Amino acid sequence: MPDPELSVVVPMYDEEEVLPIFFERMRPLLDGLGISYEVLVVDDGSRDATASMLLEAAVDWHQLRVVRLLRNSGHQAAQSAGFRRARGKYLVTIDADLQDPPEVIAELLATARDKDVDVVYGVRSDRSSDSWPKRTTARMYYRLMCRLVGKDIPFDAADFRLVSRRVIDAVNSLPEDGRVFRLVIPWLGFPSAEVPYVRAERAAGVTKYNWSKMFRLAFDSVTAFSAAPLRLATWFGLLGGLLSGMFAVGALVIKLSGNSVPGWTSTVLAVSVIGAIQLLCLGLLGEYVARLFQSSQRRPQFLVGYDSLEDPGHETIDK
Ligand code: UDP
Ligand code: MG
Repeated sequence: MPDPELSVVVPMYDEEEVLPIFFERMRPLLDGLGISYEVLVVDDGSRDATASMLLEAAVDWHQLRVVRLLRNSGHQAAQSAGFRRARGKYLVTIDADLQDPPEVIAELLATARDKDVDVVYGVRSDRSSDSWPKRTTARMYYRLMCRLVGKDIPFDAADFRLVSRRVIDAVNSLPEDGRVFRLVIPWLGFPSAEVPYVRAERAAGVTKYNWSKMFRLAFDSVTAFSAAPLRLATWFGLLGGLLSGMFAVGALVIKLSGNSVPGWTSTVLAVSVIGAIQLLCLGLLGEYVARLFQSSQRRPQFLVGYDSLEDPGHETIDK
C-alpha cells in the first residue's frame, strides 16, 4: 500500500464515551477530503472499552490504524509514538474529545499548501470554554515558555497542528526523552503559519488531564529548556553566605558588648556558615548536573532548511 497523503494522529486514554461520536464525525469528514489518509489512534493504555471499540471499528474502516501502548505513558509520549509510526506526507495531531473541530483539518492542509509552510498551528481564538483557573495557568505557562525557548511560541496553540514530513523526520531524529511537542516544534524553527479556531467543549466523558499530569507537563516544559532550577542553589548559597557574614558581624558585636547568652554566638555562626557552604556546594553540583543534562539531550546544534547545491531554484529561499 502506498504511503498516505495525511496521517491523523489521535492519542486516546479511556475515551469509550467519546468514541461513537468521534467515528461519526471524523470518518465522513476525512473521506470527503479527497486524499489518501490514515487515522492513527494511539491507545495510551486505556483500561476501558476503548481498545475493543477501536478494533471493532477498524474492521470496516480500513484507514483506521490502532497502535496500542502497553501502559499509560501520557499524552506527549503517545504523540511521540504517533510521530514514529505515521506514514503520511503530512501529519495532524488532534485530541479524541473533539474539542479541536476536525472540520479545521481541511483548513490546516490548505494553509500548508498555499503558504508552502511546514507547520500550521491551530490557535484558539477564544478560551471561554475553559475554566478560569485553567485559563490563568495556561497564560502563565505560555509567557514563561516564550522566555525559556527564546522564541515566539504561538499563544494558545496546544497540540492541534499540522506538520510536514520534514518536521516529522526532524522530531524523530531528536534523541531526547520527555519531549514537549508544543515547545520542540517551534524550537525547530521551520516556516510556520497559524489558523485560528474556536475550541469546543469536550464532546463526552471527562478530562484525562488531571492536575498531576498538568504539573508533569509544566515541569517537563521547564526542565527541557532550562537548567535555571538547578542553578537556584547557587543563588541561595550566595545569598546565604552574605546573610551569614552579616550575622557573624552582628553576633560578634553583641558578644563584645557583653550582652550575649553563653554559647549563642558559636551556635549561630556554626549553623549559618555551614548552611551557606552546603548551599554553595549544592549550587556547584547543580551547575555540573545542568551541563551534563544539556549534553545528554543531544539536540542538533542546527538544522538545515535549504542548500542551493541540493535544491537549486527552490523558492522557499527568502523565508
Ligand atoms: N490523553 C492520553 N493520555 C493521557 C491523558 C490524555 O492519550 O494520559 C489524551 C486524551 O485521550 C485526549 C488528549 O490526550 O485525546 C487530551 O486530553 P484531554 O482532552 O483529557 O485534556 P484537556 O482537553 O482536558 O486538556
Ligand atoms: Mg480535551
